[in-house]
Amino acid sequence: MAVMEKSDVKSAGQEAIPVKNPVTGATIGSIPVMTRDEVQAAAQRARAAQPAWEALGVKERAKLLLKWSDALIADLENAIRIIRSETGKNRMGAWEEVIVIASTVNYYHYRAPGILRPQSRRPLVIGKQKAKVYYKPHGICGFITPWNYPMLNALQDLIPALFAGNTVLHKPSEVTPLTSIYAVELMHKVGIPKDVIQIITGAGTTGAALVDVVDYVAFTGSTATGRKIAMRCAERLIPCSLELGGKDPLIVLKDANLDLAASGTVVGGLDNAGQICISTERVYVEDPVYDQYVEKLKYYVQQMNIGTGDGMFDVHMGSMTNERELLKVEDQVAEAVQKGAKLVTGGKRRPDIGPLFYEPTVLTDVNHDMKVMREETFGPVIPVMRVKDADEAIRLANDSEYGLSGAIYTHDLKRGEALATRVQSGDMHINCTQWIFGMPSLPMGGVKNSGLGRRNGPEGLLRFVKSQSLVIDNQLMDKPKLTQLDPFTMRVALLLMKLRRLLPRLLV
Ligand code: NAD
Repeated sequence: MAVMEKSDVKSAGQEAIPVKNPVTGATIGSIPVMTRDEVQAAAQRARAAQPAWEALGVKERAKLLLKWSDALIADLENAIRIIRSETGKNRMGAWEEVIVIASTVNYYHYRAPGILRPQSRRPLVIGKQKAKVYYKPHGICGFITPWNYPMLNALQDLIPALFAGNTVLHKPSEVTPLTSIYAVELMHKVGIPKDVIQIITGAGTTGAALVDVVDYVAFTGSTATGRKIAMRCAERLIPCSLELGGKDPLIVLKDANLDLAASGTVVGGLDNAGQICISTERVYVEDPVYDQYVEKLKYYVQQMNIGTGDGMFDVHMGSMTNERELLKVEDQVAEAVQKGAKLVTGGKRRPDIGPLFYEPTVLTDVNHDMKVMREETFGPVIPVMRVKDADEAIRLANDSEYGLSGAIYTHDLKRGEALATRVQSGDMHINCTQWIFGMPSLPMGGVKNSGLGRRNGPEGLLRFVKSQSLVIDNQLMDKPKLTQLDPFTMRVALLLMKLRRLLPRLLV
């Protein structure tokens, strides 16, 4: 699937969506809007290709995916250029996307054969029966993904689906399709068959058509769209996973190292210009250290260099990607200020740098009546609230429709761990933020309106298979009979039930 040049669009006579560079505003390509029939045709090709892909075996699939990951790393600079051209993010942000994907391939290359191996379980009648579990791919998995991390958020999910023997239809965001097109073309170049992974281009209507033809949907995006997809999957009785929005809390306890807490908040809240599902979107600080923390946070935020430069460590924040998100940020900041919040720093667009740049912003005197503390912001804004103690911080952290990630800063790691498990979220960090994305071994996902299911770890692979259980009987001492049980089997079953109480490790 090649990106269409402007002239191609006209000759194809097909509806097309332009792709823009957010920093320059220039159109850098365009994608066709695929129709329902075209999506259906792609699904037929995927279905035809699936048995051979499954038959190849997990080790052979792993070799191909490792070859692809090596090719990606060899082409790192080009990958970074493409990601940056359609997102406007800084160089480090794009580097992270590629490296996390390569380490996801490494992880599953090593782990997937073991996780997917048929398992033996305890049968009812030991010596006579065997019990086994096989894992089989769903068939075709559909991936509908967002624009904020066009490589990471698309590929981190679909890599394990390929390991598991599924074929894949991938519809990237219409805002940032070029990264996925590039990555999938590279897969084809290293030998992954073309129909095993196909790109589907278009916006919401094409995404809806995709949901209608696949056997599993992995969606990453807004809660509103996720809900629509879940309803359609329920109608079709197909499984899905939903990685949705967040409003992640960060709690600073009075024993925390305040410099590390403040600079950690900068990374948590302003990395990728705040356009991360697990961005720090609310900060709660214990009263005795509140003023000191706010001073330090202001200091670190004001050290940030925002811009378009290519430096790895000296450009801390790039452009926002979407006008829609920028307008939401402005609306939330204006509403908070109008309701009494104090603007500590930032709060303005920076058209002198680029059309979608917005200053890193800190607000204080906020409360839960304000949108900035309740709705997802998805921009470079950190609202900070004073709390009486840790209990109040946990209560407020849980006062949200979302539950994705979060962080606690404290010197007391044991207490931090105990408090973290009281937060309603899919993951928590103690004295750091965002690292969950870089650890493919850890399951990641949301509770409440932040979603269903988990990516990464064994959980993130097992969602792409269905189990098939086998009971194998060697017919020891069997005679023809007209009932399931006979006196001998009943006696053995009762005896085993008693023995299993006494020897659970051996017999359960
Ligand atoms: P979005 O919901 O607008 O779009 C996501 C994808 O869904 C796009 O590819 C879009 O074309 C497609 N789509 C839109 N309507 C559809 C429909 N009716 N049927 C099928 N597909 C449809 O989200 P977005 O603006 O691209 O992304 C930002 C959101 O994604 C934020 O809320 C963010 O928190 C969330 N997100 C979550 C995670 C996570 O891991 N939990 C990661 C990144 C982003």
